[in-house]
Amino acid sequence: MRPVRDSLLLLSRSTAVKRIVTTLPLSAGLVRSYVPGEDTEDAVRAVGELAADGIEATIDFLGEETVEPEQATATVQAYRTLLARLVAAGLADRAEVSVKLTAIGLRLEDGERVALENARSICRAAQRAGTTVTIDMEDHTTTDATLAIVQELRQDFPDTGAVLQAYLRRTEDDCRALAGPGIRVRLCKGAYDEPIEVAYTDPAEVDRSYVRCLKVLLKGEGYPMVATHDPRLVEIASALASRYGRAQGTYEFQMLYGIRPAEQRRLADAGERVRVYLPYGEEWYGYLMRRLAERPQNLSLFLTSLISK
Ligand code: FAD
Repeated sequence: MRPVRDSLLLLSRSTAVKRIVTTLPLSAGLVRSYVPGEDTEDAVRAVGELAADGIEATIDFLGEETVEPEQATATVQAYRTLLARLVAAGLADRAEVSVKLTAIGLRLEDGERVALENARSICRAAQRAGTTVTIDMEDHTTTDATLAIVQELRQDFPDTGAVLQAYLRRTEDDCRALAGPGIRVRLCKGAYDEPIEVAYTDPAEVDRSYVRCLKVLLKGEGYPMVATHDPRLVEIASALASRYGRAQGTYEFQMLYGIRPAEQRRLADAGERVRVYLPYGEEWYGYLMRRLAERPQNLSLFLTSLISK
Protein backbone atom coordinates (compact mmCIF):
# COMPACT_ATOMS: atom_id res chain seq x y z
CA MET A 1 0.00 0.00 0.00
CA ARG A 2 2.94 2.32 0.63
CA PRO A 3 3.56 3.25 -3.06
CA VAL A 4 -0.16 4.13 -3.42
CA ARG A 5 0.02 6.27 -0.30
CA ASP A 6 3.18 8.04 -1.47
CA SER A 7 1.68 8.69 -4.94
CA LEU A 8 -1.49 10.15 -3.44
CA LEU A 9 0.53 12.43 -1.16
CA LEU A 10 2.55 13.56 -4.18
CA LEU A 11 -0.66 14.22 -6.13
CA SER A 12 -1.98 16.27 -3.20
CA ARG A 13 0.55 18.92 -4.28
CA SER A 14 -0.19 18.76 -8.03
CA THR A 15 -2.05 21.80 -9.34
CA ALA A 16 -2.81 20.02 -12.67
CA VAL A 17 -4.55 17.09 -10.95
CA LYS A 18 -6.19 19.51 -8.56
CA ARG A 19 -7.76 21.35 -11.52
CA ILE A 20 -9.31 18.12 -12.83
CA VAL A 21 -10.44 16.73 -9.50
CA THR A 22 -12.01 19.94 -8.21
CA THR A 23 -14.39 20.09 -11.18
CA LEU A 24 -16.23 17.26 -9.43
CA PRO A 25 -19.34 18.56 -7.71
CA LEU A 26 -18.82 18.65 -3.94
CA SER A 27 -21.81 16.39 -3.54
CA ALA A 28 -19.75 13.59 -5.12
CA GLY A 29 -20.14 11.01 -2.35
CA LEU A 30 -16.57 10.71 -1.23
CA VAL A 31 -15.85 14.42 -0.76
CA ARG A 32 -19.13 14.85 1.07
CA SER A 33 -18.29 12.04 3.47
CA TYR A 34 -15.22 13.96 4.71
CA VAL A 35 -16.37 17.59 4.23
CA PRO A 36 -19.89 18.66 5.26
CA GLY A 37 -20.05 21.56 2.80
CA GLU A 38 -18.50 24.68 1.32
CA ASP A 39 -20.30 27.45 3.25
CA THR A 40 -20.12 28.84 6.77
CA GLU A 41 -23.71 27.71 7.26
CA ASP A 42 -22.77 24.11 6.36
CA ALA A 43 -20.10 24.18 9.08
CA VAL A 44 -22.43 25.72 11.68
CA ARG A 45 -25.14 23.14 10.86
CA ALA A 46 -22.62 20.30 11.27
CA VAL A 47 -21.49 21.71 14.65
CA GLY A 48 -25.13 21.70 15.77
CA GLU A 49 -25.56 18.08 14.69
CA LEU A 50 -22.43 16.98 16.55
CA ALA A 51 -23.48 18.97 19.63
CA ALA A 52 -26.76 17.02 19.70
CA ASP A 53 -24.63 13.88 20.15
CA GLY A 54 -22.56 15.48 22.93
CA ILE A 55 -19.55 15.99 20.63
CA GLU A 56 -17.56 19.23 20.23
CA ALA A 57 -15.85 20.46 17.06
CA THR A 58 -12.71 22.15 15.84
CA ILE A 59 -13.45 23.83 12.51
CA ASP A 60 -10.96 24.18 9.68
CA PHE A 61 -11.64 26.65 6.85
CA LEU A 62 -10.01 24.62 4.09
CA GLY A 63 -6.98 26.04 2.31
CA GLU A 64 -3.20 25.72 2.47
CA GLU A 65 0.02 26.76 0.74
CA THR A 66 -1.37 30.22 -0.03
CA VAL A 67 0.90 32.32 -2.25
CA GLU A 68 -1.41 35.36 -2.63
CA PRO A 69 -1.53 37.89 0.26
CA GLU A 70 -5.19 38.62 -0.61
CA GLN A 71 -6.03 34.95 -0.20
CA ALA A 72 -4.42 34.90 3.27
CA THR A 73 -6.45 37.98 4.26
CA ALA A 74 -9.64 36.38 2.91
CA THR A 75 -8.96 33.28 5.02
CA VAL A 76 -8.61 35.38 8.18
CA GLN A 77 -11.90 37.08 7.32
CA ALA A 78 -13.58 33.70 6.77
CA TYR A 79 -12.55 32.64 10.30
CA ARG A 80 -13.88 35.92 11.75
CA THR A 81 -17.21 35.44 9.98
CA LEU A 82 -17.38 31.84 11.14
CA LEU A 83 -16.69 32.76 14.77
CA ALA A 84 -19.38 35.48 14.68
CA ARG A 85 -21.88 32.97 13.23
CA LEU A 86 -21.05 30.45 15.97
CA VAL A 87 -21.80 33.11 18.59
CA ALA A 88 -25.06 34.06 16.86
CA ALA A 89 -26.09 30.39 16.70
CA GLY A 90 -25.28 29.89 20.41
CA LEU A 91 -22.65 27.27 19.50
CA ALA A 92 -19.39 29.06 20.38
CA ASP A 93 -19.02 26.88 23.48
CA ARG A 94 -19.26 23.74 21.31
CA ALA A 95 -16.59 24.61 18.74
CA GLU A 96 -13.11 26.06 18.42
CA VAL A 97 -11.15 26.62 15.18
CA SER A 98 -8.11 24.91 13.64
CA VAL A 99 -5.80 27.04 11.49
CA LYS A 100 -3.04 26.14 9.02
CA LEU A 101 -0.27 28.73 9.00
CA THR A 102 0.43 28.22 5.27
CA ALA A 103 -3.19 29.26 4.63
CA ILE A 104 -2.62 32.59 6.36
CA GLY A 105 0.72 33.62 4.95
CA LEU A 106 3.60 31.40 6.14
CA ARG A 107 4.80 30.88 2.54
CA LEU A 108 4.64 34.59 1.64
CA GLU A 109 7.56 37.00 1.82
CA ASP A 110 8.29 37.72 5.48
CA GLY A 111 5.95 34.77 6.04
CA GLU A 112 6.55 34.13 9.75
CA ARG A 113 5.64 37.71 10.64
CA VAL A 114 2.58 37.72 8.34
CA ALA A 115 1.34 34.36 9.62
CA LEU A 116 1.84 35.44 13.26
CA GLU A 117 -0.10 38.68 12.74
CA ASN A 118 -2.91 36.87 10.93
CA ALA A 119 -3.02 34.14 13.57
CA ARG A 120 -3.20 36.83 16.29
CA SER A 121 -6.19 38.34 14.54
CA ILE A 122 -7.98 34.96 14.50
CA CYS A 123 -7.05 34.34 18.16
CA ARG A 124 -8.49 37.76 19.13
CA ALA A 125 -11.76 36.94 17.34
CA ALA A 126 -11.87 33.51 19.01
CA GLN A 127 -11.22 35.05 22.43
CA ARG A 128 -14.06 37.54 21.89
CA ALA A 129 -16.30 34.61 20.90
CA GLY A 130 -15.28 32.77 24.09
CA THR A 131 -13.47 29.94 22.35
CA THR A 132 -9.98 28.81 21.35
CA VAL A 133 -7.65 28.21 18.39
CA THR A 134 -5.44 25.23 17.58
CA ILE A 135 -2.65 25.70 15.06
CA ASP A 136 -2.48 22.65 12.76
CA MET A 137 0.91 21.11 11.97
CA GLU A 138 1.94 20.79 8.32
CA ASP A 139 5.01 19.22 6.71
CA HIS A 140 8.33 19.09 8.59
CA THR A 141 9.75 22.18 6.86
CA THR A 142 7.23 24.22 8.87
CA THR A 143 7.61 22.55 12.29
CA ASP A 144 10.11 24.99 13.85
CA ALA A 145 8.30 28.08 12.59
CA THR A 146 4.90 26.71 13.64
CA LEU A 147 6.04 25.87 17.18
CA ALA A 148 7.73 29.29 17.50
CA ILE A 149 4.53 31.04 16.40
CA VAL A 150 2.39 28.99 18.81
CA GLN A 151 4.77 29.96 21.62
CA GLU A 152 4.38 33.66 20.68
CA LEU A 153 0.60 33.35 20.50
CA ARG A 154 0.48 31.65 23.89
CA GLN A 155 1.90 34.84 25.52
CA ASP A 156 -1.38 36.64 24.82
CA PHE A 157 -3.69 33.67 24.23
CA PRO A 158 -2.52 30.91 26.62
CA ASP A 159 -5.22 28.50 25.37
CA THR A 160 -3.77 28.32 21.86
CA GLY A 161 -3.26 24.66 20.99
CA ALA A 162 -0.24 23.08 19.29
CA VAL A 163 -0.17 19.90 17.19
CA LEU A 164 2.61 17.31 17.32
CA GLN A 165 3.05 14.44 14.85
CA ALA A 166 4.20 11.09 16.25
CA TYR A 167 5.89 10.13 12.96
CA LEU A 168 8.56 12.81 13.40
CA ARG A 169 11.67 11.59 15.22
CA ARG A 170 11.87 14.87 17.15
CA THR A 171 8.35 14.69 18.58
CA GLU A 172 9.01 12.89 21.86
CA ASP A 173 11.34 15.78 22.80
CA ASP A 174 8.73 18.32 21.65
CA CYS A 175 6.16 16.56 23.86
CA ARG A 176 8.46 16.97 26.87
CA ALA A 177 8.83 20.68 26.08
CA LEU A 178 5.05 21.08 25.80
CA ALA A 179 3.88 18.99 28.77
CA GLY A 180 3.73 21.98 31.13
CA PRO A 181 0.68 23.30 33.04
CA GLY A 182 -2.36 24.04 30.89
CA ILE A 183 -0.68 23.59 27.50
CA ARG A 184 -3.10 22.19 24.92
CA VAL A 185 -1.39 19.67 22.63
CA ARG A 186 -3.04 17.59 19.92
CA LEU A 187 -1.10 14.40 19.24
CA CYS A 188 -1.65 12.83 15.80
CA LYS A 189 0.31 10.31 13.71
CA GLY A 190 1.07 12.83 10.93
CA ALA A 191 -0.37 13.09 7.43
CA TYR A 192 2.43 14.26 5.09
CA ASP A 193 5.02 12.49 2.96
CA GLU A 194 8.19 12.88 5.02
CA PRO A 195 11.77 11.74 4.39
CA ILE A 196 13.20 8.91 6.47
CA GLU A 197 15.84 11.27 7.93
CA VAL A 198 13.19 13.14 9.91
CA ALA A 199 10.33 10.64 10.20
CA TYR A 200 9.58 7.03 11.05
CA THR A 201 8.13 5.42 7.94
CA ASP A 202 7.29 1.98 9.34
CA PRO A 203 3.69 2.15 10.68
CA ALA A 204 4.62 0.02 13.71
CA GLU A 205 7.40 2.47 14.59
CA VAL A 206 4.96 5.39 14.28
CA ASP A 207 2.56 3.62 16.64
CA ARG A 208 5.34 2.98 19.17
CA SER A 209 6.34 6.65 19.00
CA TYR A 210 2.67 7.63 19.47
CA VAL A 211 2.52 5.58 22.70
CA ARG A 212 5.78 7.08 24.02
CA CYS A 213 4.43 10.58 23.29
CA LEU A 214 1.07 9.75 24.91
CA LYS A 215 2.90 8.71 28.08
CA VAL A 216 4.79 12.01 28.24
CA LEU A 217 1.67 14.11 27.62
CA LEU A 218 -0.71 12.18 29.89
CA LYS A 219 1.85 12.05 32.71
CA GLY A 220 2.46 15.78 32.25
CA GLU A 221 0.46 18.78 33.44
CA GLY A 222 -0.97 19.92 30.12
CA TYR A 223 -4.19 19.16 28.28
CA PRO A 224 -3.57 16.31 25.80
CA MET A 225 -5.83 16.00 22.76
CA VAL A 226 -5.58 12.40 21.55
CA ALA A 227 -6.24 12.60 17.79
CA THR A 228 -6.48 9.14 16.28
CA HIS A 229 -9.02 6.67 14.90
CA ASP A 230 -6.73 3.74 15.65
CA PRO A 231 -8.71 1.43 18.00
CA ARG A 232 -5.54 0.16 19.71
CA LEU A 233 -4.25 3.65 20.42
CA VAL A 234 -7.65 4.78 21.73
CA GLU A 235 -7.61 1.82 24.11
CA ILE A 236 -4.02 2.48 25.19
CA ALA A 237 -4.78 6.20 25.76
CA SER A 238 -7.73 5.29 28.02
CA ALA A 239 -5.60 2.83 30.00
CA LEU A 240 -2.75 5.35 30.38
CA ALA A 241 -5.17 8.09 31.45
CA SER A 242 -6.38 5.82 34.29
CA ARG A 243 -2.83 4.79 35.17
CA TYR A 244 -1.78 8.44 35.54
CA GLY A 245 -4.93 9.33 37.51
CA ARG A 246 -6.42 11.61 34.90
CA ALA A 247 -10.14 12.29 35.26
CA GLN A 248 -12.32 12.37 32.12
CA GLY A 249 -12.32 15.92 30.77
CA THR A 250 -8.67 16.58 31.69
CA TYR A 251 -7.80 15.27 28.21
CA GLU A 252 -9.91 14.68 25.11
CA PHE A 253 -10.25 12.38 22.12
CA GLN A 254 -10.33 13.88 18.63
CA MET A 255 -11.34 12.33 15.31
CA LEU A 256 -11.98 13.61 11.80
CA TYR A 257 -15.45 14.40 10.51
CA GLY A 258 -16.96 11.31 8.84
CA ILE A 259 -14.42 8.80 10.18
CA ARG A 260 -15.59 6.22 12.75
CA PRO A 261 -18.68 8.27 13.80
CA ALA A 262 -20.06 5.35 15.86
CA GLU A 263 -16.80 5.27 17.87
CA GLN A 264 -17.04 9.04 18.38
CA ARG A 265 -20.52 8.59 19.87
CA ARG A 266 -19.46 5.56 21.92
CA LEU A 267 -16.66 7.54 23.58
CA ALA A 268 -18.94 10.53 24.23
CA ASP A 269 -21.62 8.24 25.71
CA ALA A 270 -18.93 6.75 27.98
CA GLY A 271 -18.34 10.24 29.40
CA GLU A 272 -15.19 11.10 27.44
CA ARG A 273 -14.73 14.57 25.99
CA VAL A 274 -14.75 14.12 22.20
CA ARG A 275 -14.03 16.72 19.52
CA VAL A 276 -14.40 16.27 15.78
CA TYR A 277 -12.20 18.08 13.26
CA LEU A 278 -14.66 19.63 10.86
CA PRO A 279 -13.29 21.00 7.55
CA TYR A 280 -15.41 23.14 5.24
CA GLY A 281 -14.89 25.32 2.19
CA GLU A 282 -14.06 25.03 -1.49
CA GLU A 283 -10.37 24.15 -1.09
CA TRP A 284 -10.95 20.51 -0.16
CA TYR A 285 -8.50 18.96 -2.65
CA GLY A 286 -5.34 18.63 -0.48
CA TYR A 287 -7.39 17.49 2.52
CA LEU A 288 -9.21 14.83 0.47
CA MET A 289 -5.99 13.48 -1.05
CA ARG A 290 -4.43 13.08 2.42
CA ARG A 291 -7.52 11.18 3.60
CA LEU A 292 -7.32 8.91 0.54
CA ALA A 293 -3.63 8.32 1.24
CA GLU A 294 -4.51 7.15 4.75
CA ARG A 295 -7.03 4.69 3.37
CA PRO A 296 -6.17 3.70 -0.20
CA GLN A 297 -9.15 1.27 -0.15
CA ASN A 298 -11.24 4.43 -0.69
CA LEU A 299 -9.43 5.04 -3.95
CA SER A 300 -11.77 2.77 -5.93
CA LEU A 301 -14.75 4.81 -4.66
CA PHE A 302 -12.95 7.97 -5.68
CA LEU A 303 -12.11 6.69 -9.17
CA THR A 304 -15.72 5.57 -9.67
CA SER A 305 -16.89 9.09 -8.81
CA LEU A 306 -14.38 10.51 -11.35
CA ILE A 307 -15.55 8.14 -14.10
CA SER A 308 -19.26 8.70 -13.46
CA LYS A 309 -18.76 12.48 -13.56
P1 FAD B 1 -4.49 5.09 10.99
O1 FAD B 1 -3.63 3.90 11.31
O2 FAD B 1 -4.23 5.85 9.75
O3 FAD B 1 -6.01 4.65 10.98
C1 FAD B 1 -6.58 3.85 11.99
C2 FAD B 1 -7.98 3.44 11.53
O4 FAD B 1 -8.80 4.60 11.38
C3 FAD B 1 -8.03 2.80 10.16
O5 FAD B 1 -7.77 1.42 10.24
C4 FAD B 1 -9.43 3.10 9.72
O6 FAD B 1 -10.36 2.27 10.35
C5 FAD B 1 -9.65 4.50 10.24
N1 FAD B 1 -9.24 5.54 9.26
C6 FAD B 1 -8.12 6.28 9.28
N2 FAD B 1 -8.09 7.16 8.26
C7 FAD B 1 -9.22 6.94 7.56
C8 FAD B 1 -9.77 7.54 6.41
N3 FAD B 1 -9.15 8.54 5.77
N4 FAD B 1 -10.97 7.11 5.97
C9 FAD B 1 -11.63 6.10 6.62
N5 FAD B 1 -11.15 5.50 7.74
C10 FAD B 1 -9.96 5.91 8.20
N6 FAD B 1 -2.20 15.40 10.66
C11 FAD B 1 -1.23 16.35 10.53
O7 FAD B 1 -0.19 16.08 9.93
N7 FAD B 1 -1.40 17.61 11.07
C12 FAD B 1 -2.50 17.95 11.77
O8 FAD B 1 -2.62 19.09 12.24
C13 FAD B 1 -3.53 16.97 11.94
N8 FAD B 1 -4.65 17.24 12.64
C14 FAD B 1 -5.53 16.23 12.89
C15 FAD B 1 -6.63 16.46 13.72
C16 FAD B 1 -7.46 15.41 14.08
C17 FAD B 1 -8.61 15.68 15.00
C18 FAD B 1 -7.21 14.09 13.59
C19 FAD B 1 -8.07 12.94 14.00
C20 FAD B 1 -6.17 13.87 12.73
C21 FAD B 1 -5.34 14.92 12.36
N9 FAD B 1 -4.27 14.71 11.49
C22 FAD B 1 -3.32 15.69 11.34
C23 FAD B 1 -4.20 13.47 10.67
C24 FAD B 1 -3.38 12.39 11.35
O9 FAD B 1 -2.02 12.77 11.37
C25 FAD B 1 -3.50 11.04 10.60
O10 FAD B 1 -3.05 11.20 9.31
C26 FAD B 1 -4.92 10.49 10.58
O11 FAD B 1 -5.60 10.75 11.77
C27 FAD B 1 -4.90 8.96 10.38
O12 FAD B 1 -4.21 8.36 11.41
P2 FAD B 1 -4.87 7.48 12.57
O13 FAD B 1 -4.23 7.87 13.85
O14 FAD B 1 -6.33 7.61 12.54
O15 FAD B 1 -4.38 6.00 12.28
